Amino acid sequence: MSGRRHDSRSDEDDVRVRPSRRGSRPRTRTRPAHADAVPGLVVAVDRGRMTVRVEGPDGGHVDVTSMRARELGKHGVVVGDQVRLVGDTSGRTDSLARIVSIEERTTSLRRTADDTDPTERIVVANADQLVIVTAVADPEPAWGFLDRCLVAAYAGGLQPLLCLTKTDLASPQPLLDRYAGLSIDAVPMSREAPLDPLLDRLAWRMSVFVGQSGVGKSTLVNRLVPDAFRATADVSKIGKGRHTSSSAVLFDLPAGGTVIDTPGIRSFGLAHVTADDVLAAFEEIAEAAVDCPPGCGHTTADPECALDAWAATGPAARQQQLAGLRVLLGAVGQLGPGY
Ligand code: ZN
Repeated sequence: MSGRRHDSRSDEDDVRVRPSRRGSRPRTRTRPAHADAVPGLVVAVDRGRMTVRVEGPDGGHVDVTSMRARELGKHGVVVGDQVRLVGDTSGRTDSLARIVSIEERTTSLRRTADDTDPTERIVVANADQLVIVTAVADPEPAWGFLDRCLVAAYAGGLQPLLCLTKTDLASPQPLLDRYAGLSIDAVPMSREAPLDPLLDRLAWRMSVFVGQSGVGKSTLVNRLVPDAFRATADVSKIGKGRHTSSSAVLFDLPAGGTVIDTPGIRSFGLAHVTADDVLAAFEEIAEAAVDCPPGCGHTTADPECALDAWAATGPAARQQQLAGLRVLLGAVGQLGPGY
């Protein structure tokens, strides 16, 4: 299953037995020659070139331009991936290292691009949290977009956080009511409000920011990371062209923690997600759903759905939780509107 947390297991341990011309013997994907490979974090991806952050000789960080080694096969590399490098890892101008392995991902934020390109793509690997930035007014909340972001978070193993902007213009209550049963953390954020409540939630974690235009996401990211503006503007320019790989940029927070902005992403298609991918994030509901018929979509249109009986018994909060979950399930399997 794509989004679940996996056992932490590196490619080096992935021993496979497969016949080869030289006879049948166990082989590892990483050859012994790569035992001295250097670990690093992918902080940017652009047209087949990755910027990988490794530890420098003085204990600081060095950004190393890298490419995928042929032995990675079809495995894509995305921002947030933990990788291993060989070759010139000095980071000097014109140097180029090779990525020889990708560590098993703990989470993966995925999207189906849009109506014209229904390919499933991983946006960011290993992030802890998806910060969904939405205005409570001007523009009105884009409900479908919010539902799809939440589904992408749950299906990918990320914890969602609602960041509500322009709370000086209207009450956030309608928005909070829509997802009331799901216990989603939310932080209000007006232009003048102090950043502390948000910073508390970002400390020492890797957080991906998503939001549609006009909600104040860029303003917020620039408040959090003062040098982010230039990089964000550059990537937005690229994102409008054919270089859609540049859809995520990673920044360090001065006080600890990592923020990944997604300036190129305006929609979140979910053609690749099933109802059970979402249910997996809710342990008790997932257990109750074992009594559902095969292929149950768990919506009100599924008359045999066992979750109705589950909600009718036990604490009253179950009704609200199921109602919130069914709002999200309405977004499962949909493509996002093309932007
Ligand atoms: Zn069901």
